[in-house]
Amino acid sequence: MKKQTVAFSRQSTNLFFHILTRCNLRCAHCYINREQHGSNTLSLDTIRDWLGIFSSKAKDTNLIFLGGEPTLHPDLASAVSIAGSMDFKSITIDTNGFMFHNILDKITPDQIDFFSFSLDGVSKGINDAIRGDGCFDAVMSGISNAVKKGFSCSMIYTVSEKNIHEVSKLPELVKGLGISRFFIQVVGLRGESENTDAKQQVSKSIWQETIPKTAEQIAEQGIIVTYPKVFLTHGDTFECAANVADNYFIFPNGRVYQCPLCEDFPFHSYEIINNVLTPCPKINETNFFSLQIPEGCVMNKLIQPENLSYDDNGFPRYKIACCMLKEELQP
Ligand code: SF4
Ligand code: SF4
Repeated sequence: MKKQTVAFSRQSTNLFFHILTRCNLRCAHCYINREQHGSNTLSLDTIRDWLGIFSSKAKDTNLIFLGGEPTLHPDLASAVSIAGSMDFKSITIDTNGFMFHNILDKITPDQIDFFSFSLDGVSKGINDAIRGDGCFDAVMSGISNAVKKGFSCSMIYTVSEKNIHEVSKLPELVKGLGISRFFIQVVGLRGESENTDAKQQVSKSIWQETIPKTAEQIAEQGIIVTYPKVFLTHGDTFECAANVADNYFIFPNGRVYQCPLCEDFPFHSYEIINNVLTPCPKINETNFFSLQIPEGCVMNKLIQPENLSYDDNGFPRYKIACCMLKEELQP
């Protein structure tokens, strides 16, 4: 098994394209914030135009269709075809599993690289308490149907204090499911989750005791596992992805962020105006990215300082890595 920290790369671009913010669910930790991200659904023409902004580097760009729930978009299948004709490096659809508009019958496995399913509990009780009644069954049958039709599938598990105790059961759950990638995420303190008690991140010691071990057990089943590094020692190099990589988080109101932690604020780097990616005036998130602090990520310190810890001299015990810095286990 090969374990590696996935370095940020200027060579490839990641486009996280929220084509709507509407969703059938109300997950406790939802990061969508309609005041900041809009509540409109992009028309197919607008999707085509906005994808066109990136078409010159499409061959090096990973495209992820997101929402809200992207399968609620009636033209998702056509959007996938358009992206295919532009030759994006990879195309993924993130879904909560409900698979609206018969999406599995409208696209074919050769058109997308992955369906990525969100699950936040190994038991129906925990998952559905976080994501809503019926979600566990929807994800399981969504994966089963997608795998039967020949689609590659992945799973995303967002870790919080509410579901960390079920993480050790994940290797058993994924046995025989047919997924080929598994992503572990840390719950964010953003969007709708700000108004709930679902936002507890787990401590460094619990994270380190649980996540790497479980990730290995999942990878032993032939599944590629990716999880965020989260904690860095003072000897580790800290890098802000926004300074060294090319990530765009696009929302239907035209805002484009480079850092997901900034998405609750009108600090976006760009705005799409008349189908042109237009830099925003100061002050915006780009003014924070170059700040060097002993705690590592500046936005983490500003937005979610609860996960920092200091010694008696007031010095941080560890640094928080960029939320986009990942460890990857290749079976
Ligand atoms: S987290 Fe995703 S699936 Fe859940 S409510 Fe938010 S957009 Fe919908
Ligand atoms: S999470 Fe922190 S380190 Fe990563 S892009 Fe945002 S500000 Fe930079």
